[in-house]
Amino acid sequence: MLPKFYDFQRKADMYYAYHSIQRYTDEPFTSHLPEALFNISRYLLHQMHDNIPHGISKAGTLYALAKQSKNLGAYKLARYAYEKLQNTRVPPRFQEAVDLGSIIIRSKPFLDGEELLPMCYRCSTTNPLLNNGGSQCINCKQPFVHSFVSFEVLPLVEFVLESGITDEEAIQILDLSIPKEKKEEKNWQESRMGNMQSLRLGDEAEEEIEEEDPFSTKLMTFDQESTEFRPVIVNRNVLKTMSRADVYIRKWPKPLRHQYFRSLLPDVTITMCPSCSKLFHTDDFELQYLQHGHCPFCRHKIES
Ligand SMILES: [Zn+2]
Ligand SMILES: [Zn+2]
Repeated sequence: MLPKFYDFQRKADMYYAYHSIQRYTDEPFTSHLPEALFNISRYLLHQMHDNIPHGISKAGTLYALAKQSKNLGAYKLARYAYEKLQNTRVPPRFQEAVDLGSIIIRSKPFLDGEELLPMCYRCSTTNPLLNNGGSQCINCKQPFVHSFVSFEVLPLVEFVLESGITDEEAIQILDLSIPKEKKEEKNWQESRMGNMQSLRLGDEAEEEIEEEDPFSTKLMTFDQESTEFRPVIVNRNVLKTMSRADVYIRKWPKPLRHQYFRSLLPDVTITMCPSCSKLFHTDDFELQYLQHGHCPFCRHKIES
């Protein structure tokens, strides 16, 4: 049952993402945000490693990727996409654009703009734009969590509970945990290097108190040599130090376990749809909600 559930989810996610690519390849002159298409096409290619659901075109995805990479200055990636397209059967209406694009891209530097490269929020490694292993960090293997509109990477790290802690108990601990005072939180300036957080008190004397966040120290518990992914495992004591507002919980029906995500940049506001549990940049979600009146993924209407 579980593999089926995850496979169904993966396909639903892919069809949802592909919808934007399809609209772009059908009507290339309608308005689409280049960044979103760039992110979506990479997201889809990362999901395509085993089988491609019926109706999703790899050629269409590569075409969108080639065009947007070139526009945004990811020339190395664009060249890769054009090379792949040269060896793929593409719809005849794309052929001319593919041939022309393949020539033009050779005049560009063989580089990707550094500002486009995603950073891993778990280990701070700068990642390449495409990774053979899928949408995860090349160093610590932590899966990236995407905002399901722009497909940008959200500053979230998923963690699992130490064995023996039930989902009910974890929620209870989190609900009781004493959140840092809002005023303080505002003045927190995070320096993630070295896993230290330094607290700067705005108006008071510029006193710096260094305090270690127990969750941050857990982030580095991975084996660089290993190809296997080691999740962040959290025990009761670490749960107690977490602010409920920084944790997003996807609740699934039993026998599935909940999924826990901890925000590493509390200033970045994130929204989780209460119905489908997809995560979004709040701005992304609110704009879509205003335009369509429902969650962009599951069309759920939030009761006010
Ligand atoms: Zn990493
Ligand atoms: Zn939803």
